[in-house]
Amino acid sequence: MALGSNIGDGEANINDALTLLEDYGNDISFGALSHIYRTDPQGDVKDQPWFSNAVVRLEIASDVWAPEGFLSTIQAIEVKMGRLRGMDPGGPRIIDLDLLLFGDTEMDSDYLTLPHPRMLKRAFVLVPLREVAPKLVFKDGRTIDQVLSGLNYTLDGLNIAQK
Ligand code: AMP
Repeated sequence: MALGSNIGDGEANINDALTLLEDYGNDISFGALSHIYRTDPQGDVKDQPWFSNAVVRLEIASDVWAPEGFLSTIQAIEVKMGRLRGMDPGGPRIIDLDLLLFGDTEMDSDYLTLPHPRMLKRAFVLVPLREVAPKLVFKDGRTIDQVLSGLNYTLDGLNIAQK
């Protein structure tokens, strides 16, 4: 799961979202958490604060959680933290939670696309993902490093900027 925030204290917001997810109990266990990176805004709205971004690896009981149910849960956390769904297209948000991968699940519904459709284009996703899943190989056979080598970005400490 990817976490992002660019309103208020991004690091605190990311940690708050993780705490709220922890409250869902024993069916979710927490694996590696990446560093929290500072990343320049991508997409149509460039005139907004830099984001804090991280990726966490979760182990989820598959007999309890279907991907759509898990997405509803993380959307409920976004709302609980003050996100107004649909009111911030491309713009600043207190918290953004995205499912990058859900095991090997591939799906494309109105509600959920897995793997996340834009993840291969975003250094702010791939760099933290590499920390928590260094051996990951995408369906097209590429490693995270191979995908990153095709992107125009800079990584300076924990700062990521992408053209
Ligand atoms: P945003 O929160 O602005 O990134 O966009 C969320 C919208 O994307 C919601 O309407 C979701 O139903 C939809 N969506 C589709 N695939 C995913 C995914 N893999 N993770 C999170 N949201 C997704």
